[in-house]
Amino acid sequence: MTAIPGPDAYPLRGLFGGTFDPVHRGHLALARSAREAFGLTRVDFIPCRQPVHRGQPGASPQQRLQMLRLALDDTPGFYINTIELERDRPSWAVDTLEQLHAQDQGHSLCWLMGADAWAGFARWREPERILQLAHVIVCARPGVPRPQTPFDDRLLRPGERLRDAPAGRVAWHDMPPNPCSSTRVRERLMAGQSPADCVDSAVLEFIHRNGLYRPPQTDPSPA
Ligand code: ATP
Repeated sequence: MTAIPGPDAYPLRGLFGGTFDPVHRGHLALARSAREAFGLTRVDFIPCRQPVHRGQPGASPQQRLQMLRLALDDTPGFYINTIELERDRPSWAVDTLEQLHAQDQGHSLCWLMGADAWAGFARWREPERILQLAHVIVCARPGVPRPQTPFDDRLLRPGERLRDAPAGRVAWHDMPPNPCSSTRVRERLMAGQSPADCVDSAVLEFIHRNGLYRPPQTDPSPA
């Protein structure tokens, strides 16, 4: 007889990969909101070492990690996972998931992302394999229309839940809109404006202390 999974057959662990250049309130809002909505037992923030779908970050891996530490500030249930920083090659999510899946048989893994990332998911390395290893939770993002993707047949149907399957389902999450982005934070800083509405004060202090995201210096012309 096949056992039918009980309500907690597959406790859910959130994995939140990003560049975090720098971490901002939108990241924290996403993790909190997804955690609550789906009952995630924990969320691991996974800073990438070498992003693969964008240009090089303005801050070093160690600086981005330090800013995450300051922003998370021991929030219960939130962890920083350095698995991608320890790999000396581009940070493919599928590699991270292979490693974590092998390490953690006790959870269903749920990769968290915003709608902009989901729009490009079909171009990620081995998207089918990713969906064999994990669920995906896609969070709404202001200014990003809900994308259509080749994986829409994986979207949860009414009455279905992520925790009823070990992997392979996609959940759309209408989180309260949060307008923050790392681009906006960097642009504000470059323009000499304050990004304090999107950045935690300890992170902002770190940014200033380390001279990050400064406008390019123009050399004074010789008299
Ligand atoms: P950048 O502006 O430099 O592209 P970002 O703000 O998108 O950066 P990332 O670290 O690249 O930050 O994002 C990590 C993940 O968080 C991505 O999946 C992204 O879609 C998601 N995300 C970031 N900010 C938000 C937000 N305000 N609302 C919803 N999702 C977000």
